[in-house]
Amino acid sequence: MPETNPDAGWRFDNSYARLPEPLFAAAAPATVRAPRLVIWNRHLAVDLGLDSDLLTESPAIFAGNELPPGAEPLAQAYAGHQFGHFTTLGDGRAILLGEQLAPAGGRFDVQLKGAGRTRYSRGGDGRAALGPMLREHIISEAMHALGVPTTRSLAVALTGEVVMRTTPLAGAVLTRVATSHIRVGTFQYARGLGDEGVLRALLEHAIARHDPDLADLADPALAFFEAVVARQAALVARWMLVGFVHGVMNTDNMAISGETIDYGPCAFLDAYDPATVFSSIDQQGRYAYANQPGIAHWNLARLAESLLPLVPGEGEAVLDKVREVLGTFPERFERELLAGGRAKLGLVGEEPGDAELFAGLLAAMRTARADFTRTFAALTTLAEAAAAKPRASGEKPAGPADGASADEADPFATGPLAEWLPAWRERLARQPAGPAAAAAGMRRVNPVVIPRNHRVEEALDAAEGGDLAPFERLLAVLRQPFEETAANVPYRAGPPADFGPYTTFCGT
Ligand code: AMP
Ligand code: MG
Repeated sequence: MPETNPDAGWRFDNSYARLPEPLFAAAAPATVRAPRLVIWNRHLAVDLGLDSDLLTESPAIFAGNELPPGAEPLAQAYAGHQFGHFTTLGDGRAILLGEQLAPAGGRFDVQLKGAGRTRYSRGGDGRAALGPMLREHIISEAMHALGVPTTRSLAVALTGEVVMRTTPLAGAVLTRVATSHIRVGTFQYARGLGDEGVLRALLEHAIARHDPDLADLADPALAFFEAVVARQAALVARWMLVGFVHGVMNTDNMAISGETIDYGPCAFLDAYDPATVFSSIDQQGRYAYANQPGIAHWNLARLAESLLPLVPGEGEAVLDKVREVLGTFPERFERELLAGGRAKLGLVGEEPGDAELFAGLLAAMRTARADFTRTFAALTTLAEAAAAKPRASGEKPAGPADGASADEADPFATGPLAEWLPAWRERLARQPAGPAAAAAGMRRVNPVVIPRNHRVEEALDAAEGGDLAPFERLLAVLRQPFEETAANVPYRAGPPADFGPYTTFCGT
């Protein structure tokens, strides 16, 4: 395959390709009929040091028809517990082109998803359809804007070919960018090979990429495990605090980087119900909203098992050390959740009753089936109104812009949320920082827009019909989730009454 655009800013250094062979297989992206770029992420291109003007002229790279200079395409091997059952997997429809060295430092995997069959495709066709790739693009970019660690999406390209699913669909390739694609399942696979040298090489690689400070410690394996535990506790707390349901938390879909990965059946809560499950295949509710911390803990136990041979010591002593670190997950998660909950409530400093106050609001929201995002947005508006009160009469209060909330009923006006409100007001009144600081803090963490299921569906339907305008409008709005703008007024509301229960499907 020819190399293109040496000046476009490609700067690959492919450290994964230098790992022992069983961890990957060389893979060439399939040549497709008619590559056409449908989405290009200029923001991300800048961060990666890539020239958008040159690259948007060569869609061939982003459909797999040409390779960027320095690419060494490969498919990664991994295993994983899927809904609790162990399976050997691997990139069945994703091909890693290489690792881009970004101008500001940092190394990023550039991977084509949907680029054709690999050694690990099993019965699959290695392809992807436009709808699911656009869905991954918009939700992962929304997560990034919400401040949640995540893989990114640089491009979505049409292939000009049809993929057969339940119906024929337009084929597409997504260019995924991640600090790495190493999963808990990658370690499970390496452990399963029974070759300690390979497992150690993977650990050293993962440490070099994510935790270079740990490389010279006496027990890097345990320290690395602790770092992953900490990242996952922080990540899952962030999910909970924006109402995100991942939907398929198999161990192969948990990245050791602490980035959210695999946007198949994920979705955001509208009404707050901790038992919410969106995925059609999650019949038992294993990956329900409220189960996510418990599942992350379970997945981390699988990582612990995989790392055991690399932890110095003998028998029970090794197990005790690893168990102790694993056992810190619940309290780390609770700490992260409470810190985030405090921020959402505008609480500065810590008081012993804070956890109960936050839990009390969630309980009231559950009873009222209150909309998760709008509840915290409305609370932010209340905090801003309280902060504006002492102003001289005639001055314009620092209220919502552009008559924004005019059409939104205040969820705190009556019912369980109204009953909860005085406790929050009392807590705020005790704060030396004052109401303005509380309101400003809340504005920074409580989004007014999230990728609402009905809006995402509407945008994808239009895009599949050839009209990308609604998708691009929604994407633009989601890049600024914390501000009330004129543009995001129509995107703030929950689903229309006739939207019904929302079901997602694994995007294959
Ligand atoms: P996921 O449910 O997306 O995490 O995928 C689970 C496994 O199935 C991974 O190993 C994927 O690479 C593989 N896979 C998913 N879709 C396809 C496909 N269309 N062709 C080949 N492999 C696939
Ligand atoms: Mg996956």
